[in-house]
Amino acid sequence: MSTAVTNIGELVTWEEGRPLRHAAAFVVDAGRVAWVGDAARVPAADEVLDAGGAAVIPGFVDSHTHLVFAGDRATEFEARMAGRRYSAGGIRSTVAATRAAGTDALAALLASRVAELRRQGTTTLETKSGYCLDVAGEERSLRLARDVTGETTFLGAHVVPEGWDPDAYVELVTGEMLAACAPHARWIDVFCETGAFGADQARTVLAAGVAAGLLPRIHANQLGFGPGVQLACELGAAAADHCTFLSDADVAALADTGVVAGLLPGVEFSTRQPYPDARRLLEAGVRVAIATDCNPGSSFTSSMPFCIALAVRELGMTPLEALHAGTQGGAWSLRREDVGHLRVGARADFVVLDAPSHLHLSYRPGVPLVGRVLRAGRPA
Ligand SMILES: [Zn+2]
Repeated sequence: MSTAVTNIGELVTWEEGRPLRHAAAFVVDAGRVAWVGDAARVPAADEVLDAGGAAVIPGFVDSHTHLVFAGDRATEFEARMAGRRYSAGGIRSTVAATRAAGTDALAALLASRVAELRRQGTTTLETKSGYCLDVAGEERSLRLARDVTGETTFLGAHVVPEGWDPDAYVELVTGEMLAACAPHARWIDVFCETGAFGADQARTVLAAGVAAGLLPRIHANQLGFGPGVQLACELGAAAADHCTFLSDADVAALADTGVVAGLLPGVEFSTRQPYPDARRLLEAGVRVAIATDCNPGSSFTSSMPFCIALAVRELGMTPLEALHAGTQGGAWSLRREDVGHLRVGARADFVVLDAPSHLHLSYRPGVPLVGRVLRAGRPA
């Protein structure tokens, strides 16, 4: 079954040297982009999808979420907005709620959050464990996550749980917990930050994950300057996420190694912290991704359009750079060749906006502009 997508006001493909086209069309065959070109020359197809003059963009790739949890922390948000600072320790209250949740209830919460992301145009998502911090709970979280995405991340090293010696906990994470979780995960992650895990502990966690066949990524440099970004570069991690506080050496290391800087502006919005400087990274040649970090503590938004608008307004990106970071950048972060773009060969994951141009994503913030969402050419 082939589909010709026609009457597109603006088509964003991220083709080399030609990121977007006007008066364009594309053909989807067997779930993949089979042809891209001028609308006047579109080949015959089994059916036609008329975009009605709207913009068509690649589906968003949200390369950083924490969707497997129970409870919420709205009152903590309220306190922060009244002037209290964010600290990593609030994670423990979500841990208590998630441990107490039944498996069916947790699966239903996860499913409703994934549906929420899909409605807002996210066609590929990464999600993590990290809200149980015990062997059975982390394994359960990843088993549930595996049902909704192939991009699953073992984050047993989120914080040290109550009552544990930090070194003993690292031993558990890299031993019995890793053995239980690795079969359900693609990625290994650690929260390298004051109040969470230091450089040596983070290195131990990531190295153990790599030895178990997982690929490394890291939470780094969120709350202050620190060793996380350098560690990501040293280990060849796919991504260093947050990157809010970076030294010149950190920026240079990211540019040299090609480690993707994942910027999560929903966090700074929701914690009233200074935003990362995307302009500085782009000008240094660093590959940048934008993601939601959807989680109940520091960024309870599932909206990539909102994060793109923030990236334009607060991180110094142009609308096209921000869209690139939320699609192709996310795909780089997840080391995926098949998503995040609409070049020939891509999986046909795309969004028909209720707008004539990608500019409207940041020009009209907060407005629901995601019209149709398709994954592999079918309604998501
Ligand atoms: Zn996170």
